[in-house]
Amino acid sequence: MNSGSFVTELAYLADLPSAYVRTFRARVTALPPGAVVLDRTYFYPAGGGQPCDRGTLRPLEGSGVPVVDVVRTGGSVLHRVKAPPAFARTLGVGMEVEGTIDWERRHRHMRLHTAQHLLSARIFARTRLRTRKATLAGIRATIDLEGPLPVGVSEALAQDLREAILHPLPVSIRHVPRAEWDRNPASGRSGLVPLPAQVDPVRVVEIDAADICPCGGTHVRSTEEIGSIRLEPPASLEDGASRLAFTLEDSGRPTRPE
Ligand SMILES: [Zn+2]
Repeated sequence: MNSGSFVTELAYLADLPSAYVRTFRARVTALPPGAVVLDRTYFYPAGGGQPCDRGTLRPLEGSGVPVVDVVRTGGSVLHRVKAPPAFARTLGVGMEVEGTIDWERRHRHMRLHTAQHLLSARIFARTRLRTRKATLAGIRATIDLEGPLPVGVSEALAQDLREAILHPLPVSIRHVPRAEWDRNPASGRSGLVPLPAQVDPVRVVEIDAADICPCGGTHVRSTEEIGSIRLEPPASLEDGASRLAFTLEDSGRPTRPE
């Protein structure tokens, strides 16, 4: 790195179809030890409760190496690679590379994340309980709620999930100027975490007629694509809060890349 002020375009943020991009080309802007910085990326860097993507990076003339970790540092995204020492010599700043996303992993995260939005919204609609925190990993996600989930709500939520597959709701993304969002934030927002002051524009993820939520993650295009979900019995947390965990039950519907 020569100046340390590289900025990576987060290409997966642009719109909903961008979450379905599996292969892309980008230019190397820096080569810190064990990592590659690109001018743009479709790799999701860990954040907001969602783990990073994995995959491979490959010089256009040459073989690829595994991307084992993706993190944000300032305005840049570091793709940490597991590469033999010779790999660094095959790359240079300004060179074009091809990135390939591990689609199985990415799609699991998209399904879990969209299911979390839907569940947080349905929990709020049914109980007025809001979500403190949500995390996902592997095929499992957890939603931490500000209070205990009343008896019987889990069964109703399971029915809501089945309904979302039988009668799918489209998911969309729009970018709203911060001032506009602040004038008219989504009423009945299910999340408790305030939007950081510097966020502008606001990336608004909407599940039609069900949820409106500012979010920088990756999501599926329709609730049908969430597939079958199994809810675990809610667990009590220390301060009167509760945790609802859920897992993906199948590998989901086959989807085409954009
Ligand atoms: Zn989200």
